Amino acid sequence: MTGQRQTRQRRQIFEVIERAEGPLSIAEIHEQSRRAVPNLGIATIYRTVKMLHEADEIHLVSLPDGETRYEKAGLGHHEHFRCRVCKQVFDLPDCPLAYLSGTTTKDGFLIEDHELTLYGRCAHCQ
Ligand SMILES: [Zn+2]
Ligand SMILES: [Zn+2]
Repeated sequence: MTGQRQTRQRRQIFEVIERAEGPLSIAEIHEQSRRAVPNLGIATIYRTVKMLHEADEIHLVSLPDGETRYEKAGLGHHEHFRCRVCKQVFDLPDCPLAYLSGTTTKDGFLIEDHELTLYGRCAHCQ
């Protein structure tokens, strides 16, 4: 593979992750990248995602179901919503628990951060 082709593929795969409404799985990145680059193999996706992750351009998102997903780095604090019908994961910008950070529970636990995954049906699946 030439360096130029690799750079183009890397940019296209990053754009797929950047445009997404939430963190994407490797399979979703593969499927969506193939619309721009039809013969893109899964090994290229794995390799490119690893490169983007090491370069801190994307973040790894681990949901409670154990599935590893990736989203653009630097999005700031937000929650995730998982649709039980189409299985897609979406970003939720509103955080009802933001006020908890910096408070201490009655048992003495100082809360610094939290991760929340909400489940239901997305607008398309209702
Ligand atoms: Zn859905
Ligand atoms: Zn997210």
